[in-house]
Parts: sequence; structure tokens; C-alpha cells
Amino acid sequence: MNDQVSATLAPNMVFQNLIGGRDRPASDGMNLDVLSPIDGSLLARIAAGTAQDIDEAVKAARTALEGAWGKLTATERGRLLMKLAAVVEAHADELAILESRDNGKPLRQSRADAIALARYFEFYGSAADKLHGDVIPYLNTHFIGVERVPHGVTGHIVPWNYPMQIFGRSVGAALAAGNATVVKPAEDASLTILRVSALAREVGFPDGALNVVTGLGRTAGSALSAHPGIDFLSFTGSPETGTAVQTAAAKNHVGVTLELGGKSAQVVFDDADLERALPTLVNAIIQNGGQTCSAGSRLLIQRGIFQDVVDAVAERFRALRAGHPEHEPDLGPMINQAQQRRVLGYLERGRNEGLNVIGEGAVAPDAPAGGYYVAPAFLAPVPHESILSQEEVFGPVLVATPFDDEAEAIRLANGTPFGLAAGVWTRDAMRSTRVGRSMRAGQVFVNCYGAGGGIELPFGGFGRSGHGREKGFEGLIEFTTTKTLVIAHG
Ligand code: NAD
Repeated sequence: MNDQVSATLAPNMVFQNLIGGRDRPASDGMNLDVLSPIDGSLLARIAAGTAQDIDEAVKAARTALEGAWGKLTATERGRLLMKLAAVVEAHADELAILESRDNGKPLRQSRADAIALARYFEFYGSAADKLHGDVIPYLNTHFIGVERVPHGVTGHIVPWNYPMQIFGRSVGAALAAGNATVVKPAEDASLTILRVSALAREVGFPDGALNVVTGLGRTAGSALSAHPGIDFLSFTGSPETGTAVQTAAAKNHVGVTLELGGKSAQVVFDDADLERALPTLVNAIIQNGGQTCSAGSRLLIQRGIFQDVVDAVAERFRALRAGHPEHEPDLGPMINQAQQRRVLGYLERGRNEGLNVIGEGAVAPDAPAGGYYVAPAFLAPVPHESILSQEEVFGPVLVATPFDDEAEAIRLANGTPFGLAAGVWTRDAMRSTRVGRSMRAGQVFVNCYGAGGGIELPFGGFGRSGHGREKGFEGLIEFTTTKTLVIAHG
């Protein structure tokens, strides 16, 4: 194991909160056990952050804003972020191992996440001093300027599925815009966020610009979303928790970005280039074990090619293996036992509805006992109204439904409460534009899926998938608000 990871994961190590530039235990001294998704053993202990810890973190952020952090120029903030980007990249192997231990995803994916994290810091760091305002030429007698200013203290509630990436896209953008931040990682996967925050301290971020309080959602998370000292909240997680966060924020009249779930469709027309499509159709649901908000969890296939495509996808599913993340499997374990049970429960409900699993992968023979592994499953044909077509499973479960024509394809693709991503596969350029523009989804991909959706492009949903945008320049703008200055001179 990487030496730094051995030190980080030393037995009896307790990961503490980072508040005002100092490592601090929870105010009541309580910790939480973090179990390894790989074999169910004790991986680490983290502070069980309390409402008091959140309060202190918010105060530390406010102090930073009024002090050293608030005094930096945009260029200086950007340089700090770019310095952090370089350090994260230099620590990519260490961070990847830590993420795979904590979250269970295959090492290659954790490494890609670490590189993406560095890129978020680079992207937002380089954009920090390019947030120009406007001058409105409205009156000859007045100068009217509109500047982009930070919200103030921003709260960030992060889920366990992409801790590094989601931290990078929301905290990176918030810091670049000049906010001071308080982060609540998911209790199941906090370790890389804590490690990167320690690196941020080392590269010279002023105390209090970046605070991290770990702990349970119902204590630390709800205290953060209800805290009156928070000026803006960024939440990524389940639709149910998103409702609770937005309700709490509304009481303080602050804005919220909600990045929630999805049930994204990939529409395969009968003129599609199947050789190109097939690996992507499978990978879009298998990546991170299907625990991806924008996973392509539904295939809509034109009836004339339905059986051929279904047979080819089923064959690929049979070859998939879930296993130890450091043995480079197709997918790792689910994050925890509850998630494993949730996925198996959905499959059980599908079987009870009379649905057929026509392509099933396997758990690799060397997958450690006690881990939360699930064999990937492909079901077809699945009616559009089925629970497996409508609800987010958040696991390696793919369903396929036939359609007859373009109008039906659009109706089915848009026929869930979600609207996060969509894929369209066709060789007909006019149809791809027509269908792509008809999709009610924040990102639509034609003859690809997820390509370039990582960092530079705005990302977010419609409907139950949430509102507001993160990633790209638009994600930076979300962490600002405008201030208009009118100066009479005539
Ligand atoms: P979750 O809502 O249970 O947890 C997300 C975060 O919210 C965690 O940090 C958790 O501790 C915290 N939390 C839990 N209860 C809270 C409360 N009452 N108040 C405040 N915070 C609370 O979701 P999850 O299980 O971590 O993640 C799975 C869900 O997240 C899926 O639905 C998935 O689609 C969605 N997700 C969406 C995106 C996106 O960008 N759209 C990305 C990742 C995950």
C-alpha cells in the first residue's frame, strides 16, 4: 500500500473535523465507525460532528471572509486553487487508493476522479479573476455597474458516490468566487475530502476559508442546512434529502442548488452504429456500480432491432464481474449494506412483477467475504410503467423497453419525474437534433454518453433531478450574486 495511505489509515486513527484551520474532535467527543465496502471491516473512525461543530465552522468561515481570505484578490484566490490542483495531481495515486478503500470503486475510476478533482481546481482557479460584471448604458447622467460578488459563507453537503469530484465542482467553484465554505461530507465516504482539505491548508489557504465537519446527515447535515449564518447551500444527494435541505434553507431565505437523482434513458434508433453504441450502453450503467446520478439506467430500443440489441447487451452483462477495487474489476462493491439490500430489493420486486433477468454478471470468486457486492443485472423487456423503469435503483441494474417511432421514444424518455441526462443513438443528423432538443434533461448526448460532461460543461437537472447548475463556468456563476451600483454624475 502507498506509504501515505498506510499513515492515513493507521489503526485507531480518528479523522477529525477541520475548523478554522485546526483539526478538532467533535464537540461531544463522539466518533462514527466507517466500514469498508470491500469486506465490511472497520476502515476508520471519523468525528460525529454536532450542531455546535457546525456553528463553530460557520463562525470560522465568517471570520475568514472578514479577514485574510476576504482580503485576497481574485487572482490570489485563483493561484491558491491552481497550486492545490498541482498538489492534488501529485497525490493522485494516494488519493485514488484512499477513495477506493472508502467508496469501493475500481482503482482506475478513483484515479480518474483524483485527476478530475485537480482539473476542477485548475478550471475554477484559472477562472477566478475572469468573473467580469456589466455596465448598463441606461442613463447618460449615471454610471450603472453590475458586479458579481460571492454569496458569503456557503454550505456544501456532499454524497458518497463521487466525494472528490463533487467536492471539487462545488467547493472549488465557491472558493474561486470568493466564498468561505463549510463542507459536510457523506458519513460513508469522508476520507478523501479530509485529506484534500489538509492539502489545501498546506498550500496556504487561510484558516477558515475551507472548513469540514463530518458526521451524520440528520445531525451535522441538517444543522448546516438550517444554520442562519449560511448564505447559500449546495446539496448533492437524494431527492428526499434535497426536499429537507431546501425546506430548511427557505426558513433562512437562502438559495440552494440541488443536484439530485436520475433515471436517464438512452434511445437507440434502428439506424444506430451499434458497434460504437454497445460498450457505452453497458458502461453508462456499470461505472461506479451504477451508483451514479447520471447513470444510463434505461435503454429505449426501436422495435425492429430490439431483440438483437438486447441479446448483445445481455452477452456483455454475463461477462461482467464485481470484485475487489484493487483487482480492477468491472465494478466494485456497493457503498454499504443498506445500498446492497436496496439494489437486491429492487431486483426482487422486478421478479415479483414477472420481469426477466436476461443477462446477469457475477461476483468475482476472489471478492472478499463480507463486502457489499452485487452481480449486475439486465432485464428485458420491461414495461415503461414498471417500478424498475420509473424509480432510481442506484445500482448495476439496466432495463430495456421497445418503442415504435420517434414520438414514442421522446414520450418514454421524458416519461419519468427525473430529467438529468439522456442519450440518443442514430446516424440521422436531423433526427439527432430534433430528438436531442426534445429531451427534458440537463445534458443530452448524441452518439456518445457522458463524454465531456465531466468538468467544463454545465450539469444539473429538471424536475425531480433538481435545479441550479454546477460544473463549467455556469457552476461558478451559481456561487455569486449580483450587486448593482448606480452613480449619478450628471
Ligand atoms: P443522501 O441524500 O442520503 O445523502 C447525501 C448527503 O446528505 C450526505 O452527506 C448525507 O449525510 C446528507 N444528509 C442526509 N440526511 C440529511 C438531512 N436530513 N439534512 C441534511 N443533510 C443530510 O444521498 P446519498 O445516499 O448520499 O446519495 C444517493 C443519491 O444522491 C442518489 O439519489 C443520487 O442520484 C444522488 N446523487 C446525485 C448527484 C447529482 O449530481 N445529481 C450526484 C451524486 C448523487
